[in-house]
Amino acid sequence: MFCYSEDDLYCEQVALADLAHRTGTPAYVYSSQTILANYRAYDEAFGDLPHSVCYAVKANSSLAVLGLLAKAGAGFDIVSGGELFRVLQAGGDPSKVVFSGVGKTADEVEYALASGIHSFNCESESELALIDAMAARRGVKAGFSIRVNPDVDASTHPYISTGLSQHKFGIAMSEALAVYDRARGLKNLSAEGVSCHIGSQILDPAPILEAVEKLLALVAALGAEGLPIRHLDLGGGLGIRYRDGEKAPAIGEFIESLRARLRESGLRVMVEPGRSIVGPAGVLLTRVLYRKKNGPKEFVVVDAAMNDLIRPSLYHAHHEIIPVRKNALPPVTADVVGPICETGDFLARGRQMANVMPGDFLAVCAAGAYGFVLSSNYNSRPRAAEVLVEGSAYRVIRRRETFEDLVRGETL
Ligand SMILES: *Cc1c(COP(=O)(O)O)cnc(C)c1O
Repeated sequence: MFCYSEDDLYCEQVALADLAHRTGTPAYVYSSQTILANYRAYDEAFGDLPHSVCYAVKANSSLAVLGLLAKAGAGFDIVSGGELFRVLQAGGDPSKVVFSGVGKTADEVEYALASGIHSFNCESESELALIDAMAARRGVKAGFSIRVNPDVDASTHPYISTGLSQHKFGIAMSEALAVYDRARGLKNLSAEGVSCHIGSQILDPAPILEAVEKLLALVAALGAEGLPIRHLDLGGGLGIRYRDGEKAPAIGEFIESLRARLRESGLRVMVEPGRSIVGPAGVLLTRVLYRKKNGPKEFVVVDAAMNDLIRPSLYHAHHEIIPVRKNALPPVTADVVGPICETGDFLARGRQMANVMPGDFLAVCAAGAYGFVLSSNYNSRPRAAEVLVEGSAYRVIRRRETFEDLVRGETL
């Protein structure tokens, strides 16, 4: 929900230049309409098929974002006790929470059991034993799924980074049956589902379909052993368009392509989308501080840096960078860099872009996922403000940090 009206960039009905003047920069700005539309695209595509859409909190864990999704009926996929705390603070329903991750601590398991979450996605036998022991102490039964590693071929699908046997995630498909079987001996566990998550920013959904087939075969084998499974959790991973002209799968079409196959399984279906719900819903607003030239090379120095948005530095990720107000000047080719004392501090390199001047604002696009959550205080830079737009209204959902915030908890 970001588009130009004449020369001015809007988020819904809010002119981003006005917002940037009022709240300052750098600032993350999220469109509530886009977040909700993406959530509903999943929810509605499943239709009458029993399903849960568990938003992956790690993509963007701001309370107001979680609150928006909780109110819309979403479940949540968490990977830490801190994320569970956020979900509960935001009014999320614990009975719709699944707990993923390869390294859950005893304290986190305790907190999850005390909160009454739906189930654990388990990644090792020692984890199953820990959850069983802690559930026994509380006198409860804990639901679990085993996250299987479907060993989907990455060579043809380079974006898949978690679903291969060499990765740390999940339990090998070949061992899963035996692990479920041994888990029958753990009396405070109940096998609810089978889960997987094969990676992120997947632009070709074919490997997800391949994983679904492998999971369904496992469910059938478990059934034959007298181990009925209730749900199938497909994880997240659907990609979004970062680059102009890039093709990303439409959420509705992707789910519809699976629906017939899933319906005949009779299973409840869960998904854990993160990026595809919040990624396109956010921009990072930044102000141009300086223009400079080193030899033939042009630099646009801005007030946002790798501590605010690390994806370009960390993953060499591409984010479109567009002017908040268009001008009539011919475009330039420049590096967009921040104030941090590292050459790795850039938002774009060799980018053909608007010929912006000091004081102008830029929007770094598709920054709603893995943006603010990965930000840090490196170089003692206070973290950015976050703003949520709802129609013609907007509110600061996280105030910009102050210098005092920087030293909170420290002693001399
Ligand atoms: C990161 C993660 C997700 C979300 O992935 P996206 O690519 O953001 O959709 C879902 N499930 C698990 C287990 C994850 O680790």
